Amino acid sequence: MIALLGSTGSIGVNTLEIASRFDRVVEALSAGDNIALLNKQIAQFHPKYVAIKNEQDREKVKHARVFCGSEGILEMLSLCESEIVVNALVGFAGLAPTIRAQELGKKIALANKESLVVAGALIDHSNITPIDSEHFGLWYLQNERAFSKLYITASGGALRDWDSDKMAKATFKEALNHPNWSMGDKITIDSATMTNKLFELLEAKWLFNTDKIDALIEKRSIIHALIEFKDGSTTAHLADVDMKLPIAFALNQKIDEAILPPLDLAKIGAIEFQEIQSSRYPIWQIKDHLLVHPHLGVVINAANEEAILKFKNEQCSFFGMSDIVLDAYKSFDSLKANTLEEIIAIDKEVRDYVNA
Ligand code: NDP
Repeated sequence: MIALLGSTGSIGVNTLEIASRFDRVVEALSAGDNIALLNKQIAQFHPKYVAIKNEQDREKVKHARVFCGSEGILEMLSLCESEIVVNALVGFAGLAPTIRAQELGKKIALANKESLVVAGALIDHSNITPIDSEHFGLWYLQNERAFSKLYITASGGALRDWDSDKMAKATFKEALNHPNWSMGDKITIDSATMTNKLFELLEAKWLFNTDKIDALIEKRSIIHALIEFKDGSTTAHLADVDMKLPIAFALNQKIDEAILPPLDLAKIGAIEFQEIQSSRYPIWQIKDHLLVHPHLGVVINAANEEAILKFKNEQCSFFGMSDIVLDAYKSFDSLKANTLEEIIAIDKEVRDYVNA
């Protein structure tokens, strides 16, 4: 049995496909604004509980047990008997449900990487299975041999082949035009700025308990992760561009059937790795500092969420987003939260700073 938060999003919809295929009972669903899709999901999966973002949408939801708002999600989770909570919410809104699921002793299938970015130190990683192709790839490759470095790959995002002058003038719509993946808006913009990969390095730091981690651009998104072992070998995880593979493993102990068609190796063609350059992805300049100061993830995340809104509303340029995040990062570099309450307070302070 699973409880699925963010069921109307890109990961949520894929999760329901996998749940259907493996006959998993869906005990709870949660949605934001897309009540029409939620109602279709209710009709198909018959969840016991449903949560929505806004109280004013309650009447539109075709269900008798509807919880509303961020508190509503937490209340709903407390009633759920599911052994797994899939957190496919986007952004800071996903943090409190991750913490509540942890308090309830649930296994967490975590797509909401922002939970680890902002509060990795407060989260028990032993109960988490990441729904992220790169971390799934690393998990898949791990063996008992000692490794010297973990690598995850980046597609380079929507503007990867643009020159810098053109990038500076890119619109929200253009930055959403991801070459390889079909994902929610926020992660797609984060891919274009490379913020997503920065977040994934932090995610990997917490999940694999190492600083020996880096990222490379692999434009085809066929290789998702690599492990360099101390003996000089490097192994790579190859799979099609499809989140159903990590989702299937997050929902099932064992998989011994085809989730994706195998790659046709003879037809793949050339695969190339490139360094990520700070000149094209300014956020990348703080990578090493952030890995040593992971508590600053809350600052980057809050500034980034506000910067994306500004870019969407044409209040800043594409590179303006990175300027906003880097400025906040420098201004708040002495803050360190030790509790969830402090994280929530810093998150608010940074958002106020960015919008002042
Ligand atoms: P989407 O934007 O497609 O979906 C987000 C989901 O969260 C939707 O169901 C949305 O509801 C809901 N939601 C958004 N804000 C709120 C809120 N304030 N309260 C309640 N519900 C809310 O995102 P993705 O599925 O792409 O991403 C989800 C998470 O997974 C992100 O953290 C992302 O980084 C991560 N991820 C995504 C991947 C992908 O391939 N998409 C790959 C790896 C990780 P509604 O749509 O109804 O408004």
